[in-house]
Amino acid sequence: MRKKVVILGSTGSIGRNTLEVINLHKDRFQIKALVAGSNARLLIQQFYKFKPELIILTEKNNKIKDKSIPLKYGIEYVLDIVKSDDVDIVVSAFSGVCGLLPTYEALKSAKRVALANKEVLVSGGKIIKEVAEKNKAEIIPIDSEHSAVFQCIQAELKKNIEKIILTASGGPFRKLPLKKLKEVTVQQALNHPTWNMGKKITIDSATMMNKGFEVIEACYLFDMDVNKIEVVIHPQSIIHSLIETVDGSLLAQLGPADMKLPIQYALSYPERLKRSIPQFSLKEIKHLNFEEVDFARYPCLKLAYEAMREGGTKPCVLNVANDKSVVSFLQKKIKFTDIPLIIENALADIDNVVITNISDLLQFIDFVKNKIKT
Ligand code: NDP
Ligand code: MG
Repeated sequence: MRKKVVILGSTGSIGRNTLEVINLHKDRFQIKALVAGSNARLLIQQFYKFKPELIILTEKNNKIKDKSIPLKYGIEYVLDIVKSDDVDIVVSAFSGVCGLLPTYEALKSAKRVALANKEVLVSGGKIIKEVAEKNKAEIIPIDSEHSAVFQCIQAELKKNIEKIILTASGGPFRKLPLKKLKEVTVQQALNHPTWNMGKKITIDSATMMNKGFEVIEACYLFDMDVNKIEVVIHPQSIIHSLIETVDGSLLAQLGPADMKLPIQYALSYPERLKRSIPQFSLKEIKHLNFEEVDFARYPCLKLAYEAMREGGTKPCVLNVANDKSVVSFLQKKIKFTDIPLIIENALADIDNVVITNISDLLQFIDFVKNKIKT
């Protein structure tokens, strides 16, 4: 039986890569529904190619006249389709916190969630983990670092894992003199050295907030204390992450910087299917380098560690403040170096509160969004 897949964010970088993987494995997967925000043109092209039963835009678009297309508008349809009994896997690949509720509902309905949208775990980790556990739903990571760790731990007992080591490319400003950071342009920040991704995560990679989010994501996914998660700079992005066992062994997963591999594994796990990426040879790579992280260059990573150590709603505030400041940076309203300052102020100004359910969490997110001025 082919597995029926819903892709949240099919027009994005992860969504398009997921469709490529599925196109190569049509005997195993079938697209049930595709969802995007506003990119009607690409969504409709994807409809003609993959013929899903339903496509959804969360934003209304009055220009589409073809009545034969099964197109719906609005988040209600998204929440309905992720709950459908006729769906096996939900690929969670919206960008930002808008993926929180649909991912929660998919897990509540015991779907496998192939998770790319890390902001879901950063802002709602505890609630998301609880709903998954309660309903015996799987969360399989797509993020390359977490997929690497997930692959490494398949052969290990939890008690044998002493540490998780996440690798980071260091982004485009790894070698820029520190005093020049305040002058960097949006275009320079969007020029990632090794990965081709959506705009928001590319800026997050330049500040290394992306790695901070990944530290938090790893805590929830692998049930690890934040102090047991280390970050090391590895500019080639070939080793995607490692685990260290209690006897001192380092286990790593290597591969090209191509998201199709972790996406495919998240869809097919525990099976491995034929490759959807080109052959990869270590002989062509030649060098693998590692460097310590300089927190003065990457204050966002430091803020993420601090937020996770404090716990409660701090990681959620971190995420919302980052979302808002990245939008402002992309709109050229603030400087690159303002991003960590806005986040630091938000973390200092907004008190920790206890939140135990999804509707309170969504309300809290709205409150934080309104409170932060960028
Ligand atoms: P993109 O910006 O390329 O794509 C985002 C997708 O989400 C698009 O389909 C977009 O639709 C949709 N979307 C955005 N906002 C909304 C909204 N408010 N409502 C509904 N749909 C919305 O992002 P990426 O694919 O790069 O990243 C997606 C997620 O995966 C992020 O959380 C990112 O951190 C994570 N991730 C990405 C990696 C990568 O290699 N790209 C690697 C690891 C994790 P539309 O096109 O219509 O705007
Ligand atoms: Mg990653």
